[in-house]
Amino acid sequence: MKVLRKFFIGASIFIVAFIIFLEIGSRHYECPATDQSPQEVLVCDPHYFPVDQIKTQAIQKIVESRRQGREPSRQDLDRAINTEKYENMPGLNGIACGDGMIFVRDNMSRQEKYFVARHELEHIFRRNGMNVECGKEEYCATMIAAKAYPAGFAATILSSLYISSKESPTVWCFLFGSWNVFREYVIPSG
Ligand SMILES: [Zn+2]
Repeated sequence: MKVLRKFFIGASIFIVAFIIFLEIGSRHYECPATDQSPQEVLVCDPHYFPVDQIKTQAIQKIVESRRQGREPSRQDLDRAINTEKYENMPGLNGIACGDGMIFVRDNMSRQEKYFVARHELEHIFRRNGMNVECGKEEYCATMIAAKAYPAGFAATILSSLYISSKESPTVWCFLFGSWNVFREYVIPSG
């Protein structure tokens, strides 16, 4: 029993110390610039991706039924979202553009796409005056989407970590960058 207690105390101290380390590191560490030319998010630029009225109307329909209290179905999401190559939306899993279009990274599983699309829809709902009482928008959007698509949530975390590990120039960029994302999307306060 004594050994077990010591183990738990040691593990707790280690975890707390590691979180403090991540907190301090993510606020002070500056990721070195790479010589790669900065990539642009093209999907929200109407010169490259003109607004598709059928898609924005489908989104508007989802907004109206959400107002009546109906949760969007997978078919609703299929009708509303655009899937696009990662090159045209670097660093992103999905985005709700100002012109009302929703884009989701195309090299994801179906579950991940539904999870990301549901998250982006939540931003559109908010722009339409719904769920504005939520103080931390990214966190709330993530939790609502995770409740609807838990497997997609887990898979998106894994694939995002994988992409970030490939793109990060140093291991610290990966570690602290991932912590920043985690803090923004998964921790309720702060
Ligand atoms: Zn978001």
